[in-house]
Amino acid sequence: MRPALREKTTDYDVAVIGGGPGGLPAAIAAARDGARTVLVERTAALGGAAASGLGILGYLDRSGNKALGGIAQEVIDRLMAIGGSPGHFRCPVHNSITPVSPDLVKIVAVQMCQEAGVDILFEHELLEVDVDESGTMRSVTVYGKLMMTRISAKVFIDGTGDGDVAYLAGVPHTLGQDGTQTMQPSTLMFTVTNFDLERFWDFLDEHPEEMGIKEAYAAGYDVDFLRRTRGHCYIGLTARVASAREAGAFTIPRNQFIYIATASERLLAINTSRVIRIDASDPVELSKGLETGYSQVWELVQFMRENMPGFEEVEISQIAPALGIRETRHFAGEERLTMDSLYSEATSERAIALSAYNIDVHSGTGDGIDLHVVEHPFGIPFGALLPQAVDGLLLSGRTISVDSTVFAAARVMGTCMAIAEAAGIAAALAVRDGGAPKDVDVVELREELGAKGAILPGARAPQPAGAVAP
Ligand SMILES: Cc1cc2nc3c(=O)[nH]c(=O)nc-3n(C[C@H](O)[C@H](O)[C@H](O)COP(=O)(O)OP(=O)(O)OC[C@H]3O[C@@H](n4cnc5c(N)ncnc54)[C@H](O)[C@@H]3O)c2cc1C
Repeated sequence: MRPALREKTTDYDVAVIGGGPGGLPAAIAAARDGARTVLVERTAALGGAAASGLGILGYLDRSGNKALGGIAQEVIDRLMAIGGSPGHFRCPVHNSITPVSPDLVKIVAVQMCQEAGVDILFEHELLEVDVDESGTMRSVTVYGKLMMTRISAKVFIDGTGDGDVAYLAGVPHTLGQDGTQTMQPSTLMFTVTNFDLERFWDFLDEHPEEMGIKEAYAAGYDVDFLRRTRGHCYIGLTARVASAREAGAFTIPRNQFIYIATASERLLAINTSRVIRIDASDPVELSKGLETGYSQVWELVQFMRENMPGFEEVEISQIAPALGIRETRHFAGEERLTMDSLYSEATSERAIALSAYNIDVHSGTGDGIDLHVVEHPFGIPFGALLPQAVDGLLLSGRTISVDSTVFAAARVMGTCMAIAEAAGIAAALAVRDGGAPKDVDVVELREELGAKGAILPGARAPQPAGAVAP
C-alpha cells in the first residue's frame, strides 16, 4: 500500500495562527497567563514582516511620548541587550522608527516562546476551520510536510495578516480600501551590504533636492537628520529615479527610492519594490507578485550601483522569504473603529492598545504615498478584536475591525504587537472563566494589560527606554 498523508490531533487552550507581530505576542501573553498555547506559522521563522528588515513604527507618538509598553517594549529591550536594536528614534515623517535586526528578531521570538511554554509549529499552514452549528470555532486543521494536524482549542487567535482563519470561519469581510477595494501595494523587501553612507550623504549635501519629503509636516527631515539619527528611513532620489525611468532602467511604479536603517550599520533594508494591482490573499496572484518582486529587486540593485554614490559595489544580503503584504481583507467586528469614533470617550474607555503612527496610504494603483499626520495617539477598542458571527475567535494584528483609513495607521508592527498582547491576555481570561472572548470583562483586561506595562489612552507614559534622538 502506498503511504498516505499522516494525520494527528492535538488539544490546546489557545491556538494562535500566524507568528508575526499580530500573532507572536498573543501566544506569549496567553501562555504566560497559564493557557496551554500553540503557535502555528507557515514559514520557517517567527516575526512576520518584523523579520524582513523593516524598522518598527508606533513606539513613540508625534510628541515623542511612549505609546507602547508590555511585550512590544520587552521585545526591543531583549533585542537591545544582544545588539539587535539601537532603540527608538524620533522622525519628522514617521513619528518614530525602531530599527531591528531581522535575524535577531527571529531568535528572540523563539526564545520568548520557549520561556513562556508556547508550542511552536513552524512550516505549518492553515488548511481548514471547524465552526459548530452555534457559530463557535472548535478546531483548525493545519498542514505541514505530508501531515495534517487537527488542533482543537477553546480560543483561536487570527494572526495571519490576511485573516485566513476568520475568512474560513465565515466572518463577514471586505477587500481593500472602503469604496474602491483597491489594496495597498505589496513589496519584496531585501537587505543590502557593502555601501558607504557617508559618501551618499555627501552627495545629498550637494543635491538637497534629492531629499524626498518636502511637505510642511516633515520640517527637519534633511541630510543632517540622517547623519545624526541612527534609526532613520531615507526617502528621495526623485530626479535619479526619473532619469533611470526615462532610460528604461527603472520600471517600478514609484518615483522615489527608500532605504531603512537596521540594527547593523552594515545592513540597510530596501523598501522600494512595489507590486500593484494584485490581491495577495489569492495564492496565484501572490505567486505572480513574487515573480515581479524578484525582477524589481535585481533592477534596484543595478539602480543603486549606477545612481547612488557610495553604493557602486552594493550587494544583496538577504531577500525576505515572503512577499510583504500591506493590505488584503478587512473583517467586520463587534465594533468597527472609524475616523469618526477615533477619539470618542467610548473608544477610549474600551481601548486595549494605543495607535501612534500616521495615516499612511500607499497607492495601490501607481506611485504615491498619502500621509496624514496623527498628532495624538488613539485607542483600539476591544470590540475591534471580536469578529461578527463567530465565537471562540479573536482578530489580531492587521486583521482587526477598522475602516481602511484607520487601518492605514493601525497596521504598523508596533501597534500590531500591542493588539496581539491584548488578544493573548483576553484569550487566557476566557479560558480561565470557561467563557467566550466576547464575555471577557474589558475593565479586567485593561487592568491586567496596565499591570504588564501596556500603555492605554489616558495612562501616564513612562520615558522610553533606549536612544531617543531629538
Ligand atoms: C512592504 C511593507 C512595508 C511596511 N513598512 C512598515 C514599517 O516600516 N514599519 C512598521 O511598523 N510596519 C510596516 N508595515 C506594516 C506591517 O509590517 C504589517 O502591517 C504588520 O506586520 C502586520 O502584522 P501581522 O502579524 O498582522 O502580519 P504579518 O507581519 O504579515 O505576519 C503574519 C504571519 O502569519 C503567517 N501566516 C500567514 N498566513 C498563514 C497561514 N494561512 N497559516 C499559517 N501562518 C500564516 C505569515 O507567514 C506571517 O509570519 C509594512 C508592511 C509592508 C508589507
